[in-house]
Amino acid sequence: MKLFYDFHIHSCLSPCGDEDSTPNNIVNMALVKGLNVIALSDHNTGKNCPAAMAVGKKNGLVVLPAMELTTAEDVHVLCLFEKYEDLAAWEAYIQKTRLRVKNRPEIFGRQLIMNENDEIVGEEEDLLIVSSGIPIERVAGLVHGFGGIAVPAHVDKAANSVIAVLGAFDYGLGFRLVECAHETDVALPRIVDSDAHYLWDISEAEHWIEAETCSARGVFAALKKLCGEE
Ligand SMILES: [Zn+2]
Ligand SMILES: [Zn+2]
Repeated sequence: MKLFYDFHIHSCLSPCGDEDSTPNNIVNMALVKGLNVIALSDHNTGKNCPAAMAVGKKNGLVVLPAMELTTAEDVHVLCLFEKYEDLAAWEAYIQKTRLRVKNRPEIFGRQLIMNENDEIVGEEEDLLIVSSGIPIERVAGLVHGFGGIAVPAHVDKAANSVIAVLGAFDYGLGFRLVECAHETDVALPRIVDSDAHYLWDISEAEHWIEAETCSARGVFAALKKLCGEE
């Protein structure tokens, strides 16, 4: 079946994400847009994923747990998972190497952790848009080891993309899929996402993936197939 997706959406937990991008608002906007599956991918954290996944479950939207990792070189890599436990283990791992700088909400914005009723249950104190300390050459293998898929984010952008930072796409880094809004010279399958920081930027039902079932398992299997893993 064809499933319309947007695998790169920020919530109010990203300092640069709008405070209206709550778990319920994101899920509802994705449904209004006609999407079947989204991934919530905040900078270096997945702490709003449980709430978004619960809201998605109630409303018939598949929500994959994810994060947008910042590597040691300041390259952004989308890390997609099937299960929240795997993402949580990955987050605990990068916690040890992540740069510790206190967030200054008045400059960078608040970093709100919410429950499935959009109530604030916590606020991340360390700034999330900093280096995770993980070198780019280790990302694909490490994320795979935690059960996830690492996808270089927005490779066509001038900032924080693998091409912008390293100068060219290095196939030796082990990535099997890229995220790119436009046609690219990179000879790998690609996904197209919104990188929405505001609700209205969430993708329309334009890009789809062929999956066996409309479930996290089905979508993740479809992504693995895109990566050449059966
Ligand atoms: Zn990014
Ligand atoms: Zn992003």
